[in-house]
Amino acid sequence: MTIQVTPIKAFTDNYIWAIHDNQHCYVVDPGQAEPVNQFIADKQLSLSGILITHHHNDHVGGMVSLQQRHQVPAWGPDDDRINGELQVVTEQNQVDLQALSVCLQVLFIPGHTISHIAFYNNDWLFCGDALFSLGCGRMFEGHPAMFVESLNKIKALPEHLAVYCGHEYTQDNCRFARALEPDSQALMEFCQQIKKLRAQQKPSLPSRLSTELKLNPFLRTADNDYQKLVQNHLKTPINDAITCFAALRQWKDNF
Ligand SMILES: [Zn+2]
Repeated sequence: MTIQVTPIKAFTDNYIWAIHDNQHCYVVDPGQAEPVNQFIADKQLSLSGILITHHHNDHVGGMVSLQQRHQVPAWGPDDDRINGELQVVTEQNQVDLQALSVCLQVLFIPGHTISHIAFYNNDWLFCGDALFSLGCGRMFEGHPAMFVESLNKIKALPEHLAVYCGHEYTQDNCRFARALEPDSQALMEFCQQIKKLRAQQKPSLPSRLSTELKLNPFLRTADNDYQKLVQNHLKTPINDAITCFAALRQWKDNF
């Protein structure tokens, strides 16, 4: 059986991503334990491990309980605020999902938090709250230059990657992106697709990195034309990617 990535819903708009075949399952960012236990019971899977992108409770809250019940390893960022048995990983490290014969690379992408990491291989990117479809995470702990550098690392990954984000925020982000580019045909078509999916209660994720590179405001801050657009819209001087990112992030915070 091929390996699948399936969303497990948690809280109101979190996704815990399950990487699994028909026997073994790893989960990314289990903010709650119960939905994971339910998922693996329904599908008759055994939990083999846990991946953590950052310390926020809606991403780690179920970890201790899952580890107690299933005795599984967890991999995550170097951050004292995470409870449980964590194997710390950072950039250049790999995580071997042995039960599935899958290897994931680690990317260090601070900005949303100062220790945020992502996991990727040649098919998938699990980016937690660093990047959303058409958006990015709030800048709780980092600063704009740091966040831009992190997003640049994501931009350098193969554009065919499927992007698995931590929250279902796409429809909201569509509104934001369209406020800047009301005439963009590509954006309009994308947002219509998302609207359809959501109307059927289907996840808008994963996205594609190629789509995000074209449409996500926070991945376009180095583009001169996009900088001009932001400058004209916000009536503030924008000369580089970092000022552009900072202006967009601040605007989005109050949108
Ligand atoms: Zn977060």
